[in-house]
Amino acid sequence: MSDAPPPIALAVVASSGHDDPGHPEHAGRIPAIVAALAADGWGDRLPRLNVDPATEDALARVHDRRYIDALRAAMARAPGVIDPAPTYVTPSSFDDARLSAGAAIAAVDAVLDGRARSAFALARPPGHHARHAAAMGFCLLGNVAVAARHAQSRGIGRVLIVDFDVHHGNGTQEIFVDDGSVVFVSSHERGAYPGTGALDEVGEGAGRGATVNVPLPSGAGDAAFDRVLADVVAPFAERVRPELVLVSAGFDASFRDPLAGLMVSGAGFHAATKALADIAARHAEGRIAFVLEGGYDLPALGEGVVNVVRALHRRPALAALGRSERAEPSVEALIDAVRGRHRL
Ligand SMILES: [Zn+2]
Repeated sequence: MSDAPPPIALAVVASSGHDDPGHPEHAGRIPAIVAALAADGWGDRLPRLNVDPATEDALARVHDRRYIDALRAAMARAPGVIDPAPTYVTPSSFDDARLSAGAAIAAVDAVLDGRARSAFALARPPGHHARHAAAMGFCLLGNVAVAARHAQSRGIGRVLIVDFDVHHGNGTQEIFVDDGSVVFVSSHERGAYPGTGALDEVGEGAGRGATVNVPLPSGAGDAAFDRVLADVVAPFAERVRPELVLVSAGFDASFRDPLAGLMVSGAGFHAATKALADIAARHAEGRIAFVLEGGYDLPALGEGVVNVVRALHRRPALAALGRSERAEPSVEALIDAVRGRHRL
């Protein structure tokens, strides 16, 4: 069938104006990904999606309108720092952040319309630390959260968000903490920024049980990711039966990343992608969209995204950067504790 939808389409937003060259979350990140894809032979083989800025109404589904107004107003005082992470803004940051959220929406639309089997919002600034009413952790607007609500506005019921960034997705968790219709699983490094994401944070009210946190020990890597996907995410998805899977895809869990201490390799991101695509195929008619979060070692960031693309095209992993030589700590007790806490 020549008209079968492509395995993956891209929504690319580089945000070259939202930049601080001395900051890890700088404007060279998206060009580095695009170059890595081209070097692996994907240059013109991946359809590009049109991206419009997220509307204020789309943003207001997850953010306080007073915060949106304050962020826009902060542009008049830019450049500056609006959160101690530090989270910087430049004069174009509000427009760039609206485009970044718009890329996540475009990825969801492509998947829901059947124009692509999956999609990846290669966009920045990232979003998963952004709170209901505050910027945080290099993040201005909650891109994946906006995308989840957008999907629901188009008739999707339950959305599963899986966040494999090395940092806890505290903003996403906060936005949906009492909502059982957007369920959230985060694996992250225990003790890393921002310090939230303990195993006993399980959601509140109607969202109780709809938040799953897996705080991994420093040094955990590919084997730990395999366990999280197979023994936590898959059985949790079996329970919630999502109609759409969204992935907060941060590549700072790489063994090369300067900001944290997990030890995932390119092959690990490839395996994780395959597991997530299998979950989407089983429950959500294959609908899955990836939204870029962190990833601050540029070669590892590029190789990570290449491995998402390769996995979705059923091509073998690229592991040119190698892997950590250190033995991984056991996560047996942790996985048992998470499964026990959530009766998985
Ligand atoms: Zn991160």
